Amino acid sequence: MQVYFDNSATTKPCEAAVKSALEVMNEEFGNPSSIHSKGYNASQLLEKSRSIIADSLSVDAFAVYFTPCGTVSNNTAIFGAVNALRRRGNKIVTTAFEHPSVAKCMDKLSEDGFEVVRIMPDESGNISCEEFENAIDEKTILVSLMAVNNEVGSVLPFDKIKKIIKRNNSPALLHVDAVQGYLKIDIKPQKCGIDLMSISAHKIHALKGSGALYIAKGVRIKPYVLGGGQENGICSGTQAMPNIAAFASAVNELRDIDSRYQKMCELNAYLKQELLKIDGVSINSPENAIPYIVNISLNGIPSQVSVNYLSSKGVYVSAGSACSKGHRSEVLTAMKLSPERIDSAVRVSLCYTNTKEEIDYFIQIIKKAFLELSKK
Ligand code: PLP
Repeated sequence: MQVYFDNSATTKPCEAAVKSALEVMNEEFGNPSSIHSKGYNASQLLEKSRSIIADSLSVDAFAVYFTPCGTVSNNTAIFGAVNALRRRGNKIVTTAFEHPSVAKCMDKLSEDGFEVVRIMPDESGNISCEEFENAIDEKTILVSLMAVNNEVGSVLPFDKIKKIIKRNNSPALLHVDAVQGYLKIDIKPQKCGIDLMSISAHKIHALKGSGALYIAKGVRIKPYVLGGGQENGICSGTQAMPNIAAFASAVNELRDIDSRYQKMCELNAYLKQELLKIDGVSINSPENAIPYIVNISLNGIPSQVSVNYLSSKGVYVSAGSACSKGHRSEVLTAMKLSPERIDSAVRVSLCYTNTKEEIDYFIQIIKKAFLELSKK
């Protein structure tokens, strides 16, 4: 049996996404900037895809800019906002457990002399609005926080921050990294007062190689990727049409967030119930985590060892985030979990095609892992 429980790292492309990508590669392979009819057809498909993604966010199509991935969306938003607003202040507020595609931008800005305030999560992986209230002031030009944490699944109060920015007389733009939240929870950026929001296609059953950045009407950022001026100059580079078409097809498939969420809650409850029957398993994800992510520790078994053991039995999970290969999880460290618990942590990330039978198999292998690996 093969069980793929690493959906926060990437997802299996859905059939509709693969079909769309193949169609574009085989037939409408033109460059959307070309003026002949192949180019025109590609540009029509580009705009149709943009509308589908914009619709899923309840925003106008012109507010959606395609990028190559979530990482480029985050870099474009952060450096673009800071470069546009640098004369208005020197302070940036973020959290201490952002994805590296945000955290490393913050390291760079800090090196460049900006004051970067990183709010710590509590032990359950949550951050309260009060922390943002205390940190955001008149000198703050950017607030950047994730919607959903990629390692433990906690949901951050991204929908409450704009009010704080306004109340505290701050000129800050609000950037939300929604890569792990998009189409898992309902995020409507306009309603929440989000200025900039990043999403990524390969986390939602489309292909690697495309993402998007939402930029609210009237918000100006300085382009970070320069070149031929595609995407209204916000992210230059020939648009990856097969990936973009696949992105839109996957979005169409995943529109019904609520019924999927219900199914995921049932799977999540079953998984946790069965895990907690096993001696030595502890759950690191908070109660309010999205049902798609369950971070656990397998007492006494180092993460890499359990990931390799599970892989040898056809079960695919990750040790922390896929991007933190070999490093102690900064997310769990920020949550101040014990070193033993951090070093034995495994992230199980589910998707709507997973089943109870797969969970049963996973549980069986975890039990075996305790028997076989603790013998050595
Ligand atoms: N932000 C978060 C929260 C993520 O989990 C990831 C990827 O894991 C990214 C950004 C980066 O997205 P991409 O892999 O599309 O660059």
